[in-house]
Amino acid sequence: MINFVAIYIYIRNMAIKCIGILTSGGDAPGMNAAIRAVTRTAIYNGLEVKGIYRGYRGLLTDEIIPFQTNNVSNIIQQGGTILKTARCQEFREPEGREQAYKVIQKEEIDALVVIGGDGSLSGARVFAQEYNFPIVGLPGTIDNDLYGTDTTIGYDTALNTIVEAIDKIRDTASSHERLFFIEVMGRDAGFLALNGAIAVGAEAAIIPEIWTEVDQLEELIKNGFRKTKNSSIVLVAESEITGGAIGMAERVKKEYPQYDVRVTILGHIQRGGSPTATDRILASRMGEAAITALMEDQRNVMIGIQNDNIVYVPFSKAIKKDKPINRDLLNTLRILSI
Ligand code: ADP
Repeated sequence: MINFVAIYIYIRNMAIKCIGILTSGGDAPGMNAAIRAVTRTAIYNGLEVKGIYRGYRGLLTDEIIPFQTNNVSNIIQQGGTILKTARCQEFREPEGREQAYKVIQKEEIDALVVIGGDGSLSGARVFAQEYNFPIVGLPGTIDNDLYGTDTTIGYDTALNTIVEAIDKIRDTASSHERLFFIEVMGRDAGFLALNGAIAVGAEAAIIPEIWTEVDQLEELIKNGFRKTKNSSIVLVAESEITGGAIGMAERVKKEYPQYDVRVTILGHIQRGGSPTATDRILASRMGEAAITALMEDQRNVMIGIQNDNIVYVPFSKAIKKDKPINRDLLNTLRILSI
């Protein structure tokens, strides 16, 4: 019997000849490894690749060049993104996206691979729906806050950077009797703060997931913090609501003036550096999977990884902002910090 579905998919795939690739939003280590994997897998499968510079901005302004395999040579170990990244207000508006579509037609791009965080994938979703255009996303963010994937590209490197930095802070912290609040990234997600706290042997982590449930600072002090140690380290997720590490320190100074408090904000150091082996492998697998997905006629999906298996997650699920933290980790941290 003739398999009409297979024929349909075959014909559609014939239509995809050229893939555009861009990185958008906050940069993350491992994005280059992903760009390399997407480019090489596409070329391996006989497709053309075009590199789009500066995220959606470059799509609007036609900052696009053809990519060959050597455009992605010697980049797997580099942090940042060779395609640069940007935020683009115009792309949030229908007129901006219309301009982007015109450029896509002019450049004869048949499908896009977008590497970025939840904002970038939200943009991809809107555009894909508006123009019925094939897009596959890769989760590129140090925050690990995309639903449907165990980890995101850049998260492992950022976590290791945090651990390395805090190990150094601990050396000085333990020489004095001090309480250190160390602010890490993750405005909406406490993965870096919580896992970082376990990895450095910190006293506690103050994370967004449970802000509304408990007063984490009060709990920390109530639980006898610093009883047995002469210095303490607490990781705090950045936040406009709590004021992050500075907000915590100000509260302690006011409410518990007996403590000698210090604040360190790790800031952009967390985004930089050469990606870890874990991130390079993740990005390589996901990059390859993005092209496979497009060839299987998948669209409007993010590539995820679950239990070491590649999965396709619809954009609508990935960007819901409700990726749960593993609450067992809170308990582990509590037990180990006595
Ligand atoms: P990240 O991808 O790191 O979360 P942003 O939230 O800054 O970064 O998003 C990156 C870009 O994605 C924005 O500058 C904008 O161009 C685009 N974008 C984000 N959200 C939307 C949306 N709802 N509709 C259209 N474009 C969006």
